[in-house]
Parts: sequence; C-alpha cells; structure tokens
Amino acid sequence: MELTKIFSFDMAHRLSFHKGKCWNLHGHTYKLEVTIQGDEDDNGMVIDFNDLKSIIMEQVVDILDHATVIYEKDDLLMKNFPMELHHVIFPYEPTAENLCKWCSDRLENAGLMIKQVAIWETPSSKAVYTK
Ligand SMILES: [Zn+2]
Repeated sequence: MELTKIFSFDMAHRLSFHKGKCWNLHGHTYKLEVTIQGDEDDNGMVIDFNDLKSIIMEQVVDILDHATVIYEKDDLLMKNFPMELHHVIFPYEPTAENLCKWCSDRLENAGLMIKQVAIWETPSSKAVYTK
C-alpha cells in the first residue's frame, strides 16, 4: 500500500554553477509530495495520516519553510549571507533534484519507508526521486 501527503513551503536558494538567472538569490513556493509504502495493520492502516504529517513537518517542512538554502561550497553566500537569518546549509547545490534526495534521506532516517519524493519547483516543473 502507498500513502501520499502533500505540502507547500516557501524557500530561497541560488545555484552557484548556473549561467542564467538561477545564479541569483531567489525564491519559490515549492510543493512537496511524499509517498511512503507499507503494509496495513489489523485495522487497515499503514500509518495515521496525522502522524505522517507530523514527521514530515518536523523533518522537512518546518526546516525549509522561509529558509535560505545555501550550498556549503557557495563562497559568495557563505561569506556574505547574514547567518542570523533562517538558513540551511546543504552539502550539494540546492536543485529540485537534490532537494528530493535531502528530503528522502531525512524521512528515511526518521523511520519512514519512502517510495517516492517529488518536488514541484514551479507549477510546471517537478523533480521525482523514486526509491
Ligand atoms: Zn530556483
């Protein structure tokens, strides 16, 4: 059985390698779709949707919402970003693809059986990481 929860959050980033406008610091309203898999218990439930929501909010959404995500090797932001503002340091460029993997890793470490994580960066652009 698969269960999916959908979230939305606002986040700023920049892509330090990018040759176009994504080089600039900018933001998106991201949509996150997390799909887990598991067997139903005797009551016909894999996990309570409220418990699933709490784990994803705590592990991912509350951390990224209204944060600036900074690549640890992005010298421009690492030197100049006012670090008293809410930020998250990533070990890789904060692309939609890498965001999927970051979310998947954290949620797996929190005990969820991840099947798929999708990140919509814009209403027409989506990255999907499937286990
Ligand atoms: Zn962007």
